[in-house]
Amino acid sequence: MSYFYGPVLSRRLGFSLGVDLIPKKVCSFDCLYCQVGVTTTMTARRFFKVDLVVFKKELKDILRKQPKIDYITFSGSGEPTLHKDLDKLIRIVKKITKNRYPICVITNSSLLYRKDVRKELKEADLIVPSLDAAGAKTFHEINRPAKGITFKKIVEGLIALRKEFKGQIWLEIMILANINDSIKEAKEFKRIVDKVNPDKIQLNLPVRPAPIKLKLSSKEKIDKIKEIIDSNIEVAESSLNKEQKKCLVNAQDKIMEYLRRRPATLDDLVGSLGLDVKEVNICVNNFIKENKIKEKVVNKKCYYIGNN
Ligand code: SF4
Repeated sequence: MSYFYGPVLSRRLGFSLGVDLIPKKVCSFDCLYCQVGVTTTMTARRFFKVDLVVFKKELKDILRKQPKIDYITFSGSGEPTLHKDLDKLIRIVKKITKNRYPICVITNSSLLYRKDVRKELKEADLIVPSLDAAGAKTFHEINRPAKGITFKKIVEGLIALRKEFKGQIWLEIMILANINDSIKEAKEFKRIVDKVNPDKIQLNLPVRPAPIKLKLSSKEKIDKIKEIIDSNIEVAESSLNKEQKKCLVNAQDKIMEYLRRRPATLDDLVGSLGLDVKEVNICVNNFIKENKIKEKVVNKKCYYIGNN
């Protein structure tokens, strides 16, 4: 497993060098809309996994190529705050990069209730937490959390983070039709968002492949939700902008070219081609639908094989 991928072009972060610390698919949630796939190891226990020698070497090798980087982003295939001593890794990245790039952490908010996690996150410049529900019932329906993670803890964690964190907080809310897009839910979101007071809010829609088919809310509903929560919030209406679509086409070509020559796992494709795990997921899911590749499980690993 490589610890870094990209830089990939992200709609909000520009060229983002991804840091993937957690193996696929270890997470504290099993979200209905997850693009990485179904959670196979559900846990809220923090662990230390990174091989620091490899981690430092990979980063130095990438920097030697002088790629364009706007952010270094801790995200990837699972929840990054599950990694213990995240602050230590952020400090290592800052030292090696001589503080040239801002550090972003994308989190599902599950561990923000913990003081140690919030303390470690203080090393970041930007935190992008998610909040997909405005009540406990919807939270369990959408995020399907690990034992011990409650809706109350998520909200308390976000409020505490805002009080303690001096950098930017950009809150993300995934809107799912008939699950959390009612007026009642929007009013509850408003109540919570006012307490969290993030610097930016973005509404996301489930436009990318997910383990189950999800419906999109109508434009009227989204406009109404926006009006209730905050009329200035952004809506990621289409998943990809023009430049990102171009990148995705390039990624598709690279993946197809690779699979024509040899079978590969998702990790092989991410590591060998330097692509974002989510980007690779979109491409392979599309290829399977189009019958261009097939999946085969060998020794408990899923391989993608080109249908030549
Ligand atoms: S928190 Fe993120 S990685 Fe984990 S299941 Fe949800 S969407 Fe997937």
